[in-house]
Amino acid sequence: MAKESFTDLQREVLAPGLCTTCGTCIGACPVGCLAYDAAQEQPALAGECTSCGICSAVCPGKDIPLAALEEKLFGRRRSPAEEHLGVYNDILQGFATDPELRTQGASGGAVTALLLHALESGQIEAAVVADMDPERPWRSKAVLARTPEEIIRAAKSKYVLCPNNMALAEAEPGERLALVGLPCHVHGIRKMQDHAGADKLGTQVVLVLGLYCGCNSSYRATEHVLADNTDIALDDIAVFEYRGGPEAQDTRVVTKDGTELIIPNAVRSFSTLAMSHDRCRMCCDWTAELADLSLGDIFDPRVPGVWRKVPDWNSFLVRNQAGADLLAGARRAGVLELSPLSEESFYGNIGFELKKHAAIFNYLTRRERGWPAPIYDMEFTWRARRKRVYDLPEE
Ligand SMILES: Cc1cc2nc3c(=O)[nH]c(=O)nc-3n(C[C@H](O)[C@H](O)[C@H](O)COP(=O)(O)OP(=O)(O)OC[C@H]3O[C@@H](n4cnc5c(N)ncnc54)[C@H](O)[C@@H]3O)c2cc1C
Ligand code: SF4
Ligand code: SF4
Ligand code: SF4
Repeated sequence: MAKESFTDLQREVLAPGLCTTCGTCIGACPVGCLAYDAAQEQPALAGECTSCGICSAVCPGKDIPLAALEEKLFGRRRSPAEEHLGVYNDILQGFATDPELRTQGASGGAVTALLLHALESGQIEAAVVADMDPERPWRSKAVLARTPEEIIRAAKSKYVLCPNNMALAEAEPGERLALVGLPCHVHGIRKMQDHAGADKLGTQVVLVLGLYCGCNSSYRATEHVLADNTDIALDDIAVFEYRGGPEAQDTRVVTKDGTELIIPNAVRSFSTLAMSHDRCRMCCDWTAELADLSLGDIFDPRVPGVWRKVPDWNSFLVRNQAGADLLAGARRAGVLELSPLSEESFYGNIGFELKKHAAIFNYLTRRERGWPAPIYDMEFTWRARRKRVYDLPEE
């Protein structure tokens, strides 16, 4: 049977709208013939395809063998109680002990603190992260960060699609890497690690830090927010932070003449959520269920405001020994503060609603009607979970 080529990826993933913009195909292509089409936010052919079939095999746009990979990675499939969070051994809350990393991080700065610890202790030599594009600072850029400065510069969440996994193409042979990514990036790296032909590069990734992801949007949604709420011309933007301002919660824009503008988080997120990427609305993994360690926010109904997010705290789902060892080492080094957190706290998180109710409902409806939808090897339900949230952290 003829091996698949980029034309197959185009027909089966790009044309039906199943591309997640994870960048895995670009990072894995052994001849480097794929480029990122930043306007369309998807891969494009930029050289001669040798029909090796790797891009189709590692692509998580259409096929996500969650259950099979879970079994391979964790030695078991999720229990019925783990239906919505995936396999985990421990649930914790905490934050980076460095006050600057903590307050400047999207949540408690734990991702950046863990990457710095892994780099400084020699566990990794580089990390795949998402930074802002210096030429178009409201858009993202996949970066292979080799220095603490590059890791720190990439802190904070970018609520915009980013092809993180394409940065794998920049890795030197044998270089030990961490990968920070949303669930779709994590699916891509796990498929690479599982595929002969891409597993050599895949297994250079020794740490997979997954972020919870409720939803994501095109840069075009950001441009719409700017046009709807400001008079700023895109060419005048010098700095753009989705999570900026005094407490790293609001969207902060600085123009080339130094004028600073804050767009409240509620204004930015209502618009970007409303204009979310179509593929994200059928994505059923919320907490990066195949990561070594998953990290997100904590939401609590007693926190005032629209979102009820607890500022400067992370929640953690520890899924395997690599995740547990990384956390234990960071705690011993005094880099992180950690304490227990209960599972109930997860069900008040906006991402839980967006993924485990809305996206699953949408995905099942699409499957029922025969519309394009990804293929998962497990059944999903969008059953209700009682929202009891007791875990307001005490300091
Ligand atoms: C699109 C998106 C949706 C999210 N949805 C939820 C949710 O529903 N519920 C929840 O609890 N948490 C959600 N999070 C996770 C949360 O916002 C924080 O990223 C997470 O808690 C880690 O915080 P931190 O302070 O430890 O990270 P930091 O120390 O600030 O580091 C953030 C890291 O995230 C990476 N990153 C930032 N943006 C992206 C991106 N677009 N794609 C890939 N990598 C990126 C950066 O490379 C950086 O290394 C979401 C994040 C994103 C980007
Ligand atoms: S990975 Fe292989 S099939 Fe895909 S574009 Fe590159 S050469 Fe072609
Ligand atoms: S590997 Fe990722 S970026 Fe490439 S086509 Fe598939 S989903 Fe899109
Ligand atoms: S919703 Fe899913 S597909 Fe969209 S960015 Fe998040 S993890 Fe990727």
